[in-house]
Amino acid sequence: MMSEVQVQLSAFRDLIKKIKSYEEAVGLIYWDMRTGLPKKGAESRSDVVGVLSTEMFKLSISDEMGTFIQFLTEPAHWEELDELNRKIVNEAKKDYDRSRKIPTEKYQAYVVLTSNAETLWETAKSTSNYEIFQPYLEKIIAANLEFIALWGYKDNKYDTLLDMYEPGMTVDKLDEVFGALRKKLVPLVASIQASKNQPQTAFLRQSFTKDQQRKFSLFILNQMGYDFDAGRLDETVHPFATGLSPGDVRITTRYLEDDVVSALFGTIHEGGHALYEQNISLDLVGTNLCTGTSMGIHESQSRFWENMIGRSSSFWERYYAELQATFPGQFDDVPVEAFYKAINEVKPSLIRIEADELTYNLHIMIRYEIEKALFNETITAAELPQFWNEKYKEYLGVEPSNNEEGVLQDVHWSGGAFGYFPSYALGNMYAAQMRNTLMQRIPNFEELVKQGDLLPIKAWLVEQIYQYGKSLTPSEIILQVTGEALNPDYLVAYLEDKYKAIYQLD
Ligand code: ZN
Repeated sequence: MMSEVQVQLSAFRDLIKKIKSYEEAVGLIYWDMRTGLPKKGAESRSDVVGVLSTEMFKLSISDEMGTFIQFLTEPAHWEELDELNRKIVNEAKKDYDRSRKIPTEKYQAYVVLTSNAETLWETAKSTSNYEIFQPYLEKIIAANLEFIALWGYKDNKYDTLLDMYEPGMTVDKLDEVFGALRKKLVPLVASIQASKNQPQTAFLRQSFTKDQQRKFSLFILNQMGYDFDAGRLDETVHPFATGLSPGDVRITTRYLEDDVVSALFGTIHEGGHALYEQNISLDLVGTNLCTGTSMGIHESQSRFWENMIGRSSSFWERYYAELQATFPGQFDDVPVEAFYKAINEVKPSLIRIEADELTYNLHIMIRYEIEKALFNETITAAELPQFWNEKYKEYLGVEPSNNEEGVLQDVHWSGGAFGYFPSYALGNMYAAQMRNTLMQRIPNFEELVKQGDLLPIKAWLVEQIYQYGKSLTPSEIILQVTGEALNPDYLVAYLEDKYKAIYQLD
């Protein structure tokens, strides 16, 4: 005989599984929309997504869900739940509380607002006209401030937005780690710029066929341990990874025929996201914990593989001959050191997505300062372009000549994704901290990379991080793996070591 708690729990788990099924179906449709959907099918498919998403949302905030949560969190019943089920209930409750606090009409109006704003943002960007986007941005910020008031907040309004992407992250913590990082990185970038030892990069920009690039990308994915029986590689304008279930994690890339490494590093990046999702424990399938734990931890994995493995000298010691053979004659006169330096060129620039591994962090800090200021109402949307330009001058020493290459460059704010940007820099910090531990636990780490023996590294990451999915929080993961809380010093040390050698500083 099942106890009443077991009966309720089982019905609750069925409901969670149903929501996950909708989510998987919607995820697959999105993948299809971005890869191979015929143009004439787009409109009807958008309707399908609308219907399924609405059903999914209704289930997550249904009275049925509310009743389950209430029943299962009663102390006597909670006692009977094991640790995993408690986490599943907590996750559902967080979602439920958050969504139920926003009146449906307000939420629907917001969906329409952001959808219109995205379309308008495209026009604003292509004409470099901030004034047409500004009123929409003002409304999106106002709506978010209203949501924050409904959700409630402790210390800082912006914390509530950060928590959506990085559970537990706060302005206090970010001020501390970003402050420490900026203090070291700004002078490092300046001394790199002043260095006489600038890498040659012209050989990266020859003509490279898509077929050859694809062949090399597939080869490297295999080396990383990406499971092609649980995924596939396709081509899109904007590369992405989508985890439908651990058995189906798809990635896409974009080939530029005049750039040998853009597609490769894009593929390795998305491959890092995919390794995470492919290796979540099967015990979590069908639960709300079967996903990466946060955007920051997810980015730590894509960036670990892309930058700390893929852009390392050890990696190219093993794979450069392979690259030379893939593109016959094109790299005959280029020594591996020259290639390594070229792919690690540091150049302060205006556009975030084109930034190198080092200056990327400064682009993120600028967005963080802006979002924090907007939500604490110390600047207005009207003051944004000027604030943006001043920060670029201060952090990177460059200044946009128009808003297209300035404040209008990213899509995020038009969709209301405030609090998302810090994840990228957090990912770099987590990755460097994990790498430090990894090098102690696997002392022959560099040797393994030099031999192209990447699977023991992947296995360590699976054991330490991937298998847990969302069953551990980001702060629990970083503490469990490295024995300490997030610490920016590891990223500083890693970047200083790497770039002082490349640019022969000191
Ligand atoms: Zn990523």
